[in-house]
Amino acid sequence: IPERAPGQKGKIITVGNFKGGVTKTTTSMMLAQGLTLRRCRKVLILDLDPQGSTTTFFGINPHAEIDAEQTILPLVDGSVEDLRHAPMKTYWDNLDLIPSSTDLFNAEFMLPAKVHQGDETFQFWKVLRRGLEPLLDEYDYIIIDTAPTLSYLTINALFAGDSIIVPVVPDALSFASMVQFWSLFSDLIGGLQSNKHTEDSKVFDYIDILITRIPKKPTAELVKDWIIKTYRDHVLPVEIPETPLAMNTSAEFSTVYDMPSYDGSTDAYRRIAEPFDRLVDLIDNKTCALWETE
Ligand code: ADP
Ligand code: MG
Repeated sequence: IPERAPGQKGKIITVGNFKGGVTKTTTSMMLAQGLTLRRCRKVLILDLDPQGSTTTFFGINPHAEIDAEQTILPLVDGSVEDLRHAPMKTYWDNLDLIPSSTDLFNAEFMLPAKVHQGDETFQFWKVLRRGLEPLLDEYDYIIIDTAPTLSYLTINALFAGDSIIVPVVPDALSFASMVQFWSLFSDLIGGLQSNKHTEDSKVFDYIDILITRIPKKPTAELVKDWIIKTYRDHVLPVEIPETPLAMNTSAEFSTVYDMPSYDGSTDAYRRIAEPFDRLVDLIDNKTCALWETE
């Protein structure tokens, strides 16, 4: 596995889609754990969903145990310039967390206020990138889990990413909402690129669609075909099936990599883990290719 050369920065991956329940949190978690286990990467998860599912996943109650100061809010209100001191250890080796708390909802009022207070050039995604910059020396990846809403935090998290993963479940409604997401996001990116204040900054390396939680239903096959026909090269060549053992953020607090059988000793286990392993390797291979050309 190629290593990051000295001086080279880690990469920010934002997992986003304005729809809820499309496995954003699951995908963030799987990727994070998989990258540490399979590729020996050091990973930071940044929880930007005020509901704090990722934070909860690590056994932390985002409503009771996390203060606003431990989240990215100090960066939002300008009381710190970077997030060097924000990561906390988790039970998982080489996987740290910047947690979320309900206080993050305040960002939705603070961010537009900054722009309206006369600073038209205020772009939070740049502040976020700068805030994460020193951490990219330490971590190979920063994975940002976002809220299922069209919020300032989510949009800025998408802009801040070196790459974006859009998980989509192949049912007609999710597809329809993803088409909306894609066209809105394309418009926003277009606006960003034509903005004179943005000329100096790079917009992401790639945006990928992950077809996931695929049920064993003929309609799922149909919708999958629509997605592939519409988005072609943007669709990752891996399919994550719906599986009760895949992950249960809400009930079980474990992913396939958490299972005691992670050693892969059983065929049944290997069958479940295989698509997740493939996703992890795909993403890391893409990143290695980027590092090579830098
Ligand atoms: P989001 O963050 O987009 O709201 P979650 O990651 O919380 O979505 O996933 C929504 C639900 O789907 C959770 O209960 C999760 O356990 C479940 N889930 C995720 N991936 C799969 C899968 N491959 N098969 C079955 N259930 C899944
Ligand atoms: Mg979530």
